[in-house]
Amino acid sequence: MRNKNNQNPSQMEMPPLNDRSWPVFEPGWVWMVGGGPGDPGLVTLHALNALRQADVIIYDALVNQAILDWANPAAIIEYAGKRGGKPSPQQRDISLKLAELARNGKRVLRLKGGDPFVFGRGGEEAQTLVQAGIKLRIIPGISAGIGGLTYAGIPVTHRDVNQSVTFLSGHDRTGAMPSAIDWQAVSRGSQVIVMYMAIKHMPDICRKLLDAGRDPNEPVAVVSNATNPDMKVLETTLSTAMQDIQDSGIGAPAIVCVGRVTLMRQCLDWLGQMDGVPVRDLDPLNVRSVSETG
Ligand code: SAH
Repeated sequence: MRNKNNQNPSQMEMPPLNDRSWPVFEPGWVWMVGGGPGDPGLVTLHALNALRQADVIIYDALVNQAILDWANPAAIIEYAGKRGGKPSPQQRDISLKLAELARNGKRVLRLKGGDPFVFGRGGEEAQTLVQAGIKLRIIPGISAGIGGLTYAGIPVTHRDVNQSVTFLSGHDRTGAMPSAIDWQAVSRGSQVIVMYMAIKHMPDICRKLLDAGRDPNEPVAVVSNATNPDMKVLETTLSTAMQDIQDSGIGAPAIVCVGRVTLMRQCLDWLGQMDGVPVRDLDPLNVRSVSETG
């Protein structure tokens, strides 16, 4: 897109934000920043401001490294996830390292995927830093379970479907089925269930929900690599999900959304529509005539 001066709007010089909008990254601080689900355009201005000032950036798996192009060129950039089959560093080791860097007077940016406080261990890490007396700023990010679904054309709430959402993790800290989830309660009380890290235990999870009385025909969407160019979306149902996931080869990282909101994709697959995919249904929930508003 070009404006009348034949300039690409994204390359135009932006007016500076007023000073109060741009906190100064003081040496000795750790800023814990959400990097969003993948698409670099989904990072916040606070995240950008942090990247420009940090001396050291420690980032997790699932952070899109394109974001790091915005870092101060002098910054030291380190990866804190699994690499080359080696186990990931212990959570405590990461926190202690962040603390040590901060004590050495660095501006330390801890960059995490999505939102740091949503299934990202950000709470634990931040707590250890506070316990170590380190000064901390926390910058939220767009979480995959909301923004990722938006890229698939799935609104996480819709007045005609749900007044609540449950976010759950498909495994616990040992990698096993999460033991603390009351599946009966979730099944009965959650009109829409959004699951992180659920692919591995999907057969068990579907079984639990079905045993708890959930409708086998309930629509389910699996969105992998959401917001990234290799995003894939599988539309299935609770009873067919296991087989369809296996057959399609769709894998992690993925968000699984159980509930009738997933039907809205038939109308709202805006990314597909940009590529010429026709709208499948203007009223997938069968509740609104095309002209109706309000
Ligand atoms: N803090 C992150 C979640 C970390 S847990 C957030 O707020 O999004 C890691 C899990 O998040 C993955 O196993 C997957 O379930 C989900 N996830 C993260 N990025 C994703 C993406 N781009 N597409 C689909 N799922 C994603």
